[in-house]
Amino acid sequence: MTFTKNPLAQRPADYSAKAKALVTEMTLEEKALLLSGDGWWHTHPIDRLEIPALSISDGPHGLRKVEGAGLPTSEPATCFPTASALASSWDRELIWQVGVALAEECQAHDVQVLLGPGVNMKRSPLAGRNFEYFSEDPLLAGKMAAAYILGVQSQGVGTSLKHYAANNQEFERMATSSNLDERTLRELYLPAFEIAVKEAQPWSVMAAYNPVNHVYATENSFLLRDILRTQWGFEGFVVSDWGAVHDGVAGVNAGLSLEMPGSGDYLQNKIIGAVRAGRLSPAKLDEAVVPLLTVILKAKDHKRTGVAFDAGNHDTLARRAAGESLVLLKNSGGLLPLDFRQIKTIALIGAFAKTPRYQGAGSSQVNPTRISTAYDELVKLVDKNTVVRYAAGYTEEGTTTEDLIEEAKQQAKAAEVAVVFAGLPNSYECEGFDRSSLEMPAGHNQLIAGVSAVQPNVAVVLMNGSAVTMPWAENVRAILEAWLGGQAGGGAIADALTGRVNPSGKLAETFPVRLEDTPSFPDFPSRMKEANYGEGIFIGYRYYDARKIAPLFPFGFGLSYTTFAYSGLLVGATVVKETDGVTVEVKVKNTGPVAGQEVVQLYVHEQRPKVVRPEKELKAFAKVALQAGEERAVSFQLMKRDFAYYDTVRHDWIVNPGKIEILVGSSSQDLPLRQTIEVELTEQDCAPLTRYSLLKDFENHPKGKAFYPQLAEAFGLGNPDEADLAVRAFLDDMPVYKVCAFSEAKFTEQMLTEILKQLQ
Ligand code: BGC
Repeated sequence: MTFTKNPLAQRPADYSAKAKALVTEMTLEEKALLLSGDGWWHTHPIDRLEIPALSISDGPHGLRKVEGAGLPTSEPATCFPTASALASSWDRELIWQVGVALAEECQAHDVQVLLGPGVNMKRSPLAGRNFEYFSEDPLLAGKMAAAYILGVQSQGVGTSLKHYAANNQEFERMATSSNLDERTLRELYLPAFEIAVKEAQPWSVMAAYNPVNHVYATENSFLLRDILRTQWGFEGFVVSDWGAVHDGVAGVNAGLSLEMPGSGDYLQNKIIGAVRAGRLSPAKLDEAVVPLLTVILKAKDHKRTGVAFDAGNHDTLARRAAGESLVLLKNSGGLLPLDFRQIKTIALIGAFAKTPRYQGAGSSQVNPTRISTAYDELVKLVDKNTVVRYAAGYTEEGTTTEDLIEEAKQQAKAAEVAVVFAGLPNSYECEGFDRSSLEMPAGHNQLIAGVSAVQPNVAVVLMNGSAVTMPWAENVRAILEAWLGGQAGGGAIADALTGRVNPSGKLAETFPVRLEDTPSFPDFPSRMKEANYGEGIFIGYRYYDARKIAPLFPFGFGLSYTTFAYSGLLVGATVVKETDGVTVEVKVKNTGPVAGQEVVQLYVHEQRPKVVRPEKELKAFAKVALQAGEERAVSFQLMKRDFAYYDTVRHDWIVNPGKIEILVGSSSQDLPLRQTIEVELTEQDCAPLTRYSLLKDFENHPKGKAFYPQLAEAFGLGNPDEADLAVRAFLDDMPVYKVCAFSEAKFTEQMLTEILKQLQ
């Protein structure tokens, strides 16, 4: 990894000290004014103290600089691939570069904070904003987000990590409570935020619309204060999602610094009133003002005036990013790349070939600087004598007619190969509502069926922001998932079809066979404004693994025009203390004919978990570029947290001593290298023993085991090592305080208390 840590994050104290000094000079009215925006995209300037306005714009995959409310056309900006595409690249370096480019565009447009990235988990493939989110896996989403933030912020522009937290559906998004238990929250819905905050310190975090366990995210001091600031060390400010403030004073009390959009003097007066009435302490008010002021001062210092960005270079980067995000899902008989030495006529079928779907709808919609289409770009790349036929096949809404299908069939029949462009139209995927099914429009499915009935060589290229079903998958030779690839996505597709790009993306989300197989079915999105996360920690591959449901394409899956072989798994130790960590090394070789890139994935599996755990969890990954025949070693470092689960009694990450299997390979379903290690606990990490601990807890405790024989014998059931299975089980599960009754008080309360004292 060549990108460096955010240099600005290394000296936040400078600005925070200045902000702390400045806040003492502010009047109550000025502080209250600052905490609500000036319109939709700015904070209030306070000229008397030379505090400038902060200019804020959407994000995440391009700059959407507008004035005023609604969704007016924005300033032209580079439209990069959306997050579901970028995450499929599994390439932190690339995402960092996209971040740098985004920040250059922000600087050119006088924008100091870009609203993104979004790291919410894909709880259901139906969620309307999945195209804006990275993954169903918190580690992958967190690492992608951290790279994005470090890239943007390296250029002196801030980010806003969103939507904190558990914002996983669009339906009634301002009112539906996401109800989830603490372990599910800690293990699945928070870690992506946690990784991004700890590794990249975003300048701001956006509090979501929804309540979490019935407390609005914007008023949730458990989320905003206890977790975000105290436990993770967040130094930036918390901004509300646009319109997410309900009780602004409660928000400020909980750690919210900025209401957006501004509410005129509505919140200002409430804050002033609350301070005067003693419902909001001056100290709490300052706690909200200081982080915002800190960022305003930092942004002022890093503002570059009169800079322009190079739209051509950014378009080239967008094309590369789209190429890296492509996931080759099927390629039977090596149909792709198309061999244009042999192919004289090709048919491009489907309106998306000429009018691509390249981004999602809603607040992230960018006005691109240019748009490339697969049709035009392919025509540019192939020999002048190659005939490129075309048929639209379906309407903008995805419907079709007999005539459209017939025309497509004719074009496909007249060619040696047909590439069908299909996916989801704009009206199927948009912020503000969820999808109602996993199907592509009937017109797209019918078109693929029609074309594959007359042409044996069919490749399907998909443009969609989230998983779809593919009833035709068996009948086509190749499937290339191109996602919403941004303004240069068409060029990237042409690059892959012709072999200039070797697809190297891997799915960052599972593609299920049918909706009924998905983790939150049938309880998604919500009823009566209650979203109950009944599937708990089992979303995405964690769910399919647990239920042994074969997906259409698994998490982490993606083919290449070359092949890779894994060997030489080397684990630093076979027995490790949970506090030590362990290194893992593996060799990967390009065994095929062309250069390519492989995403090496490492998962862990706990063999005998104390609490229910997913069969495996992703803990590390690396993308490696290899020439044909080249072999390289990749190494990873695993730490305590990689083995731990979240313990809801101790409210901490706890390692269960025992065997952990390390699995390495090319997808969640293809993990050829495996090695088991034994993880031991250090004394201080053991659950404290109490009179309610079970007898077996004493046996398994490093200090407690010394007392085990004495306690076991006192139960009067003989030597447990010689006892039959039922007696042994009876003893093992005995709460230890019962020893007094079972021993008929020969083992006294006093004796038990003595033992427990020694174990303190
Ligand atoms: C969206 C945010 C967006 C904001 C500003 C909200 O409706 O949820 O993601 O940043 O609007 O446009």
